[in-house]
Amino acid sequence: SSLEDLVTLFDVRPSGNVLADDARDALVASSPTFGTVFTDHMARVTWTADTGWHDRRVEPYGPLQLDPATAVLHYAQEIFEGLKAYRHADGSIWTFRPEANAARFARSAHRLALPALSIDDFIASITALVRTDAAWVPTSAESSLYLRPFMYASERFLGVRPSLEAEYLVIASPVGAYFSGGVKPVSIWVDREYSRAGAGGTGAAKCGGNYASSLLPQVVAQQNGCEQVCFLDSGTRTYLEELGGMNVFVVRADGTLQTPELSGSILEGVTRSSILQLAADRGYETFEAQIPFADLLEGIRDGSVTEVFACGTAAVITPIGRLAGSDFDQTIADGTAGELTTALRSELTDIQTGRAADRHGWMRRL
Ligand code: PMP
Repeated sequence: SSLEDLVTLFDVRPSGNVLADDARDALVASSPTFGTVFTDHMARVTWTADTGWHDRRVEPYGPLQLDPATAVLHYAQEIFEGLKAYRHADGSIWTFRPEANAARFARSAHRLALPALSIDDFIASITALVRTDAAWVPTSAESSLYLRPFMYASERFLGVRPSLEAEYLVIASPVGAYFSGGVKPVSIWVDREYSRAGAGGTGAAKCGGNYASSLLPQVVAQQNGCEQVCFLDSGTRTYLEELGGMNVFVVRADGTLQTPELSGSILEGVTRSSILQLAADRGYETFEAQIPFADLLEGIRDGSVTEVFACGTAAVITPIGRLAGSDFDQTIADGTAGELTTALRSELTDIQTGRAADRHGWMRRL
């Protein structure tokens, strides 16, 4: 196929410094802290305005040397993605809906005035890297190889205009179970002061700046005894948007499932869209809507809201047990993981790890 042809375009330049098999396996098995351990190689493609994308390769993982005037360091013209490779029981390696991440990466590139990378190039780069570093894909339950494609403005130039040079890379990091001691509900701080993104801004793109702007409110959340922050719409501070790195869902006693509509300032999660599908398959009525936060709080208090959860690639589904803010502190139901939350989490992880049939054709073998 043309995709396989593209994979072979990636010139593999093996590292002379790979970790020995037993050292690597011990490192992977130790379930290192998220994002601290990386595989032996990285995929890389270079873009210049003159020649387009060229020099597809898989090269030894290592530091980048950047001129101090490199554009990304000054104007944050940068985007990234996050997805996982899973090892199934027969040893084969799969990713979950990588086309969706590729499409989102293309949308992010457009918004940040970076060059478009084709869906096929995105998937080929991941395939080439994972095949090279296949031994790094963990085998234990709920563990996976986290893949981090990213692109940055690499031109040495301080003028404020789209860079005429860009680098695209993929790095990979083995990750253990997100909840090592069983799935635990989290407390969420609903921030009324800060926004992560506004109307017409970059909230729907996966660019570094959005995460920079979420760090201070995240610190405030932790100072208030919460694990994560939830943002409201920046215009009216009325409607629920999303967490710093996850989308949010509300389950009601009447059998409906709601998630904030794609307002332009929230990220369209791959997990979010998958959950909408799986819940509909189960007969739930699903809504993408504006959800006034005051209504949510009221619903939790009167029992019409039974479950609230967050979702994203890293933790799949995280139950929310408590919402707190400057003038409220509300436990949800009894503060434990709800029935639908738990069922959807199992179903999705079963599909991803090959324990359940992939009826929607979401898995792609690498
Ligand atoms: N919102 C934000 C801001 C995120 O960073 C993420 C993680 N990519 C998500 C939602 C969830 O997206 P996904 O399900 O594609 O991981």
